[in-house]
Amino acid sequence: MLVYDVPLRTRFRGLLRRDGVLLRGDAGWAEFSPFWDYGPQESASWWRAAREAADEGWPAPLRDRIPVNVTVPAVGPEHAHRIVSASGGCRTAKVKVAEPGQSLADEIARLEAVRDAIGPDGAIRVDANAAWDVDTAVARLAALDRAAGGLEYAEQPVPDVEDLARVRRGTHVPIAADESIRRASDPFAVVRAHAADIVVLKVQPLGGVRACLELAERVGLPVVVSSALETSVGLAAGVALAAALPELPYACGLATAQLLSADVVAEPLLPVDGALPVRRPEPDPALLAAAAGDDGLVARWEQRLREVEPHAADQA
Ligand SMILES: [Mg+2]
Repeated sequence: MLVYDVPLRTRFRGLLRRDGVLLRGDAGWAEFSPFWDYGPQESASWWRAAREAADEGWPAPLRDRIPVNVTVPAVGPEHAHRIVSASGGCRTAKVKVAEPGQSLADEIARLEAVRDAIGPDGAIRVDANAAWDVDTAVARLAALDRAAGGLEYAEQPVPDVEDLARVRRGTHVPIAADESIRRASDPFAVVRAHAADIVVLKVQPLGGVRACLELAERVGLPVVVSSALETSVGLAAGVALAAALPELPYACGLATAQLLSADVVAEPLLPVDGALPVRRPEPDPALLAAAAGDDGLVARWEQRLREVEPHAADQA
């Protein structure tokens, strides 16, 4: 078991660094990296995803490249423009909105810059991470849709499933459910409430590639596979899910290796012509050593694993 700890290039999800565990089993390398605000029970699905990667591997791919979006954090317009221009040819941009302390004017400026950088035929989606209420969401989406010259969809504008359905009825912008799927006790509530047009699936929080494939089949809505801000070892599981889905109508949110200032593999999973290749990179010993967490962090992860493992066994 190895603990990594690398700085992010830009503050993201309130974080300045990303850390987690890398482990190797018979089937290959795996990543276990629940964010620190996830308790032992909620982290158990992350552990099952890591065990699947290490012990079983993943179902056979149906495609060999995965179109991906560039992710634009809550940065200023010039920075947003640079990020999209340097994205490796991504034809879809996902723009973070609803950042605390920022105004609608900040968001409009960011979206206009992204449209300018991606061109008229690029797709732009926004992610509010459940930060709005219904009225704010409906008003903001109208304004942001105009600023962007059309939004592909809006991800999780509000936290509650019934409210998500209300927003969906109040806007023509399609709605994607993210937190309502991965942090919910019942991911099918979204379907029953007609609360979303699209679902975002993430391998670690949902317990592995096979668990996600099963969920996708039962939900019956188009799927966007996104990362949990992993190294390329963890991203490979998302790539495997995207490669195994029967249909993949949208670009996936898996081009997040760019958000880390360092990776643990020699050839990170970065987009070429707007897509990731379907492959499973192995960690590089020198890069692993360079990214290694200190003794205090290793001790925290060892303690965390002791707390999480019993829950993973309970739920299996
Ligand atoms: Mg999201």
